[in-house]
Amino acid sequence: MVIADSFGRIPRKLRVSVTDRCNLRCEFCMPNSPVWLPPDEILTYEEILRVISTCAKMGVQKIRLSGGEPLIRRDLDRLVRMLKDVPGISFIGMTTNGLLLPEKAAALKEAGLDGVTISLHSLDPNRYRDITGGGRIENVLAGIEAAKENGFRVLKINSVIQRGFNDDEILDLASLAFNNDLTVRFIEFMPFDGQKYWSMERVVSGDEVIEKIRTRYKILPLPREPSSTARVYKFVHGMGEVGIITSITEPFCSDCDRIRLAANGKILTCLFDRSSYDLMPLLRGTATDEELSDFISYAVSKKAPGVRTLLQHCNSLEHVRAMHTIGG
Ligand code: SAM
Ligand code: SF4
Repeated sequence: MVIADSFGRIPRKLRVSVTDRCNLRCEFCMPNSPVWLPPDEILTYEEILRVISTCAKMGVQKIRLSGGEPLIRRDLDRLVRMLKDVPGISFIGMTTNGLLLPEKAAALKEAGLDGVTISLHSLDPNRYRDITGGGRIENVLAGIEAAKENGFRVLKINSVIQRGFNDDEILDLASLAFNNDLTVRFIEFMPFDGQKYWSMERVVSGDEVIEKIRTRYKILPLPREPSSTARVYKFVHGMGEVGIITSITEPFCSDCDRIRLAANGKILTCLFDRSSYDLMPLLRGTATDEELSDFISYAVSKKAPGVRTLLQHCNSLEHVRAMHTIGG
């Protein structure tokens, strides 16, 4: 039976973090000394399949694999193949830093992965290395090429923009979209940084990004897809698209249809909510599918109306989760 939260929103998308570990150390995501989940506290593929099959019966249609870095989890293509057979699931996407795509893209495509979103926050090799704690930009660019060559249905680039760090690259990143027929999405810096240096002054609003892009390109807004996180614009004289994800200045909470499954089996109903609902005891105990589905339904019923309300209750950012533990 299809479920809705107490504001009538039906969860259609489930983001699944398959690991909290990563082969990069992005400043705006990872703490200096991350504490990893012990391996036996991470959901197995069979457990993830069970949760997704249950959610699909309740209305979930789209899955996004994330992390940490999803590509460091062994045999991710096996999970994709398992999910492909779940009735009701019409799309499987993945958000990745792209480093391991050259060696893994073909197997994932063959397994049935539909879309890839690759994070790239600077086109300058030194800056990219600095922000990611040692990442080599050549590897991400090779990852983008591998994704293109394998013909994924959806291919997007995510860039987190921070004032005073990479806001001078907005036009170059827009040109990457324009010249390569890609969608580049500019994400407002959110307070989930492991290193806790977030401040409102560092947030570059989506509106500011669009204003800047308009100094070089003529762009037109596309109609917003219901419950989409991004506002997307097409180039009038080119093929690609640019998008803005305005989670801070203009969050789209009123039609949010996303829920999250963390690597340790906790259901999170909103990035900004500190509550979570632990499925692990049910999955590793004797709970029936019906009990599992009742629990997920209960978690969904607790989904808050939106970010503004949650931030009002959050007096300090001390206890916000780091992004690598949630899946972005
Ligand atoms: N490792 C993969 C990657 O980097 O794409 C997937 C996990 S990452 C946590 C998911 C997304 O969250 C990425 O696009 C990343 O850039 C974004 N992200 C991480 N920390 C963020 C922050 N503090 N504010 C905004 N976006 C953030
Ligand atoms: Fe890793 Fe992605 Fe976080 Fe960067 S943003 S540290 S790539 S999980």
